Amino acid sequence: MPQAAYQRVVLKLSGESLAGPEALGFDFTCVRDLARRLSGLRDLGTEIVLVVGGGNLLRGREAKAVGVPAIQADRIGMLGTVMNALALAATLGAEGAPARVLTATPMHPLAELYRAETARAALAAGEFVIAAGGIGHPFFSTDTTAALRSIELEADCLLKATTVDGVYSADPRKDESAVLLPELGYDEVLERRLAVMDATAFALCRDHALPIRVFNFSEAGTLERVLAGEKLGSLVS
Ligand code: UDP
Repeated sequence: MPQAAYQRVVLKLSGESLAGPEALGFDFTCVRDLARRLSGLRDLGTEIVLVVGGGNLLRGREAKAVGVPAIQADRIGMLGTVMNALALAATLGAEGAPARVLTATPMHPLAELYRAETARAALAAGEFVIAAGGIGHPFFSTDTTAALRSIELEADCLLKATTVDGVYSADPRKDESAVLLPELGYDEVLERRLAVMDATAFALCRDHALPIRVFNFSEAGTLERVLAGEKLGSLVS
């Protein structure tokens, strides 16, 4: 295996990475495959913090659209991320890769409360850390959670796993002329209104000069290549 280029990263996975082709709910074959992929990274020498979304269970905006008040909708969304984190931690454990779920709000005895110190200690002990429950407040996203945890834990890079190859000049699913942009500055992303993350998450990254690598996680082996320092996908820095 190639040597890792990073000491510590935060990997943002969407909730859909725990769902099957329907992109909804849990597909435990898919969760196990994901856990196998991640457990294979243990020997690379990079500490990995996982932030899992909840879009496979509920996105707040979907509930809001049918009249659920925003605060409650987002609370349900945050709980979805905890379910995903627990499912992923359990399957990682079954693959021989211990994972510690740390939640933004107290959920004892289901999981431990997130503290940067607890996360650092778990990482130093060779565990994956799964930061769950978002930041614990409505009106935020798990992208913002990933940005915040990256900054708190002084990660070298925020790795955003997607199903496209990186950041494009336009939506590649809708526009055939869209081209992949391998390297971008924060201001260029804003000026060109490129879709990297929501504005709150992006502002945090920019203000703290946190590099973001957007890459295609649906292809096998891409995460290993990114961790080995390959310039895969797009880098915003
Ligand atoms: N959420 C929230 N606060 C947070 C993080 C998440 O309220 O700090 C809610 C919000 O409703 C969001 C849902 O949890 O839609 C699931 O997260 P997200 O949409 O980011 O998941 P993903 O699209 O990455 O699967």
